[in-house]
Amino acid sequence: MKTPSGRECPHFFGDYYRGRNIEECRLLKLHGQAWSSDLCKTCPVPDIARANSCQYMQLRLTVVRPITAMFQRRVQVTAFCEKSNSSVAEPQIGCKDCHSMLSTFEVIE
Ligand code: SF4
Repeated sequence: MKTPSGRECPHFFGDYYRGRNIEECRLLKLHGQAWSSDLCKTCPVPDIARANSCQYMQLRLTVVRPITAMFQRRVQVTAFCEKSNSSVAEPQIGCKDCHSMLSTFEVIE
């Protein structure tokens, strides 16, 4: 579903049926964090979801106020792979555990 900032995010939920106006981030809600629509503007999750659809990667979100962003609230993401049981440094790429399986395929000409 598209977020208020216009990007597609699998964790955004909006209910506008019959005059309702319910919007929430289900991933932030899962982690007990308060959501507001301004967070979607700078959130890295839509880009991560577009680049990597690994079913084993779990994202954990934290809302922070970094000094560099003039105390504007931002979403910070950490990722964990349930398959390799390790943290993922670059969620857009993944933990590379699954990528190594691709090299086992051979091209037969
Ligand atoms: S805060 Fe991030 S994860 Fe949550 S709905 Fe907005 S873009 Fe998606």
